Amino acid sequence: MRPQEQTIPLEDAARLSGPLAFNLMFKPAGSLCNLGCSYCYYLDKADIYGGREPRMSLEVLEAVTKAYIHANDVPEVQFVWHGGEPLVMGLDFYRKAVEFQKKYANGKTVFNSIQTNGTLLTPEWARFFRENRFLVGLSLDGPAFIHDRYRLDRGGAPTFSRVMQGLQMLRTEGVEFNTLTTVNKASEGHGAQVYAFLKEAGSHYMQFLPVVEYVRFRGKKERPVIVEPLAPGAAPAFWSVSATGFGQFMADIFDVWVRRDVGTYYVQLFDSALAAWCGMKEGVCIFGKSCSGNAVVEHNGDLYTCDHFVYPAYKVGNVLQTPIRELMEMDLPAQKLSPVPLPAGLQRRMPAAPEPRHRGQRPLPGLQAFLLPHRPLL
Ligand code: SF4
Repeated sequence: MRPQEQTIPLEDAARLSGPLAFNLMFKPAGSLCNLGCSYCYYLDKADIYGGREPRMSLEVLEAVTKAYIHANDVPEVQFVWHGGEPLVMGLDFYRKAVEFQKKYANGKTVFNSIQTNGTLLTPEWARFFRENRFLVGLSLDGPAFIHDRYRLDRGGAPTFSRVMQGLQMLRTEGVEFNTLTTVNKASEGHGAQVYAFLKEAGSHYMQFLPVVEYVRFRGKKERPVIVEPLAPGAAPAFWSVSATGFGQFMADIFDVWVRRDVGTYYVQLFDSALAAWCGMKEGVCIFGKSCSGNAVVEHNGDLYTCDHFVYPAYKVGNVLQTPIRELMEMDLPAQKLSPVPLPAGLQRRMPAAPEPRHRGQRPLPGLQAFLLPHRPLL
């Protein structure tokens, strides 16, 4: 009999022997952003690149576009643009991106989605997104009294009204969009209200993301730096949602959604929970058995295994130096529950990540609050 460490689960074997298909999240402006949200986990990434302004050059853009399309064995390829704030790259950058995609499509269909804080949107951007069928993800935390609690610009000014103007431009132009809403301390107790607000704003696809972070304080006037929970001096960030607060927030939304909105409004967390429960592909990593499929390409081609693990220790390689296929095939889903030990080379390059971010280090009573049927559903 083969020793256990040489065996792999059936689903991993199927994945590794099937056609290679994966999504990459591109960060052409790295951590660059015109806002300074209190809870932003990405602004500090500037330190990794020596504080230099990160911007993807057209040479890198062309090279990664070609390599990414070529590496995917499937007829449809998805580009996900993320930040920082990806709109700071300017419209011409994305015109060029679309041009390169057409040049290297080789018969494949290419889709684009972009996540934005919405404050730099103009009618010209909206027209470009519609004409090129971009799906836009808009960051919107709810009504002004919640959104403006932590989503402030670099001067500390509120951003809600600018985001709503951007949203109106998308709606006027008929751009397909969804909303990304963080659930933080200011959101607690307002689940039903936030849900009603997003519906009123025209969002039919909603993502809710709990903000749970640890920080280390620097000088009095400096923004605290976000660190891993077990880092020396780490303390829970005051903007973090409590576990029960998040559970109650989602339960309150669920109570409304399940009665009136099934099939009309889509809440990613509910869809993913159902998919995972039915044994289908879950779509959100927290429901998966292992980490995989969320790799990030930084402005200079550096590839990391996950948006939440852009740290030097988790860098897998650089797509300009190593074929993407090779890098992605190293991304074995062995970090979480799989009994497969990482190959020696991979251990060196991909130290075990406590994914989902920080799970297992704190109890999750909020998840129970959300999942337990504490009252009748219908
Ligand atoms: S808009 Fe996004 S990237 Fe910019 S500071 Fe806020 S959370 Fe960070």
